[in-house]
Amino acid sequence: MAFGLFLTATSCSGDTGEKPVGALVESETPTANIEEATPTQTPTPAPTPKPATTPTLGENPGSSGLGDPYFPTLGNGGYDVEEYDLQLLWDPGSKYLVGEATITAKIVEDLTSLNLDLSGMTVTSVKFEGSNLDFFREDNELIIVFQQPVVKGTMAALEISYQGFPGLVENLNLPHSGGWFNTENMFYVSGEPSSSQAWHPVNDHPDDRAQFRIEFTAIPLVEARTWNWEFVTNGFLVEKTESDVDKSITWIYETRYPRAPYLTVLAYGIFKESEAVTLGDVHLRHWAESPPLPSDIFEAGVETFGHDYHAMFEVFTNLFGPYPFDTYGYLVLNETLGYALETQTLSIFGYDTYQEPNIHVHELAHQWFGNHITVGDWSNIWLNEGFATYAEYLFLEESVPSFSIDDSFFIPMYELVEQGNTFFTQPPPGDPGRDNLFSASVYFRGAMTLHALRLTIGDALFFDSIRGYVEQYGGQSATTNDFIQLVEEATGSDLEEFFNGWLFQDNLPPLQELYD
Ligand SMILES: [Zn+2]
Repeated sequence: MAFGLFLTATSCSGDTGEKPVGALVESETPTANIEEATPTQTPTPAPTPKPATTPTLGENPGSSGLGDPYFPTLGNGGYDVEEYDLQLLWDPGSKYLVGEATITAKIVEDLTSLNLDLSGMTVTSVKFEGSNLDFFREDNELIIVFQQPVVKGTMAALEISYQGFPGLVENLNLPHSGGWFNTENMFYVSGEPSSSQAWHPVNDHPDDRAQFRIEFTAIPLVEARTWNWEFVTNGFLVEKTESDVDKSITWIYETRYPRAPYLTVLAYGIFKESEAVTLGDVHLRHWAESPPLPSDIFEAGVETFGHDYHAMFEVFTNLFGPYPFDTYGYLVLNETLGYALETQTLSIFGYDTYQEPNIHVHELAHQWFGNHITVGDWSNIWLNEGFATYAEYLFLEESVPSFSIDDSFFIPMYELVEQGNTFFTQPPPGDPGRDNLFSASVYFRGAMTLHALRLTIGDALFFDSIRGYVEQYGGQSATTNDFIQLVEEATGSDLEEFFNGWLFQDNLPPLQELYD
């Protein structure tokens, strides 16, 4: 994720007196603007069926969390999801969603029950091997009780029917609101570290990546205002059909790479697709909410705002290794979001962040760092943000001959600290705390840590280590310790003190030693 604050890599080098805290405020939740409902087509909300008594969970219930130190109830233990097959029926008039989720998971412990994460929404039935299962809800947990224990190694397919008015993820004290946002002209889904559980049952943690197949059907409004609306999500559109009966339109998207649930983006509105370009093996195409955004928005991205995706792909594939997926693009909304998010293969931007070329660089870099390699838990957030921020400076270094990371970023950061401004360097980024998940220090001191490492071990070993990290942990999750161990093995050096100072101690390590 990148906030509007982090607009230019050099913005922190000049106006030293400024402390732009205000720029870090969360984007406002768009006000739901309820359109006139079309009562004849609105599905009837179902009452919540509840077991008469809370069913017994047996000896081996799956856990309600994955042990995340910041978000203990995100994710669940005892299974590993392989695929989410989500069938969604959306009524844009009433903004009511009816969903059928088939979740295929490998059971990794003997289980008498398991948990899924789900915020709001009403579950109407849970089926397993043709039988209805008992289930109940506790806050954002959906607890499903098996009739007989399911043994470790089983591939289980759970069919969950649910419905409701999707909204923001509740009960988690998120540092940044996530979930389903309705606006007057569309909806979109976005949010880190959690957004998926606002609209489907999920193992909501980056440590459980899975395939997604999304089948989305929109009921047409009576006044036919939605006839030209498009549904957009990650991956490839494999089918789009219109029903002869009621003129509803169905889109089916599939992905070819597993992803963390928070990296799913969904949007439905008036979206224009750019012409597709092929960059090597990558299919590059974008979407824009146009109109009202200008009809030449894609051209303006290149000509006015300077988004040079050819150059970005060239620099990053040289530095980090091959792009880890087969498609990429941005989705730009006619919203002032205050941030952009690296939703996998289709990053989401507001029209504000869209205009900042460095944010495009940042979100593309996240496809390697954050998406291909996911965080083992959220305390390791600097492995996402420090890397993506440093990638902004690496891109400038590679593409602007006179640009110096030392002179434009690294040394000026020390000067700010000398002047008493610790906005970009406190708290230490290695374990910033839940409320500081997106603090400026996670981004900037995270990036400084990587630059200091490069100064310490030299360019050759530094870039070998980064490529080695992508090769070893791509498609998996990683922790700070994994990264440190990998660099220590690559260099044959003990770097414990170095990383401890940079990531966990209050004071920045002395500058002079790095240039000796
Ligand atoms: Zn980011």
